[in-house]
Amino acid sequence: MTARRLLLLGPPGAGKGTQAQRITEELGIPQISTGDMLRAAVQAGSEVGREAKGFMDAGELVPDRVVIGVAKDRLGQPDAREGFILDGFPRTSAQAQALDEMLPELGFALERCVAIRVDEEELVGRLLKRAEIEGRSDDNEESIRTRMGEYKAKTAPLISYYEAKGILVEVDGKGNVDEVAARIAAGLE
Ligand code: AMP
Repeated sequence: MTARRLLLLGPPGAGKGTQAQRITEELGIPQISTGDMLRAAVQAGSEVGREAKGFMDAGELVPDRVVIGVAKDRLGQPDAREGFILDGFPRTSAQAQALDEMLPELGFALERCVAIRVDEEELVGRLLKRAEIEGRSDDNEESIRTRMGEYKAKTAPLISYYEAKGILVEVDGKGNVDEVAARIAAGLE
């Protein structure tokens, strides 16, 4: 059976958001993107948004306490009961531990962690292109470098964390969206 409680891990620009959307459409499970939720909070001018904005614009990670609260509220909503795809959370070991605590409380367990691997040179090029298309305020070169640094130092170690749990699927992120989507689908069977 295809796994339905999923986590997508990968460096900025690896195509997590695009692949998460595909999985959402194919499996009918919600995409839970802390980045999207934080951007919405910034737009809405909420307290979370005010706390997060400076970190996001600089390309730094938003403090764990803030992000964990956002993720927990979202995972507790009814549409996540039959499955979900986490996109961009967890990004630190403290967040991964918080997730390990909150999932059993909600009655779930994570079934797969899909890690997308992409060459760093290619990533910076992709991000700069996205900056032109989407005009995201954190897609300038300095912020991109900071985000890469944050990923390597704090998020990449989670790959071995999920490998040790025996739920890791590593996928080559080279090629077009369909090619990567097919590799992910194969890894979820
Ligand atoms: P994303 O859209 O996933 O690339 O996230 C955009 C920005 O939101 C990141 O650069 C961080 O500043 C912040 N962010 C999103 N998710 C997290 C997270 N799990 N932990 C800390 N910061 C996050």
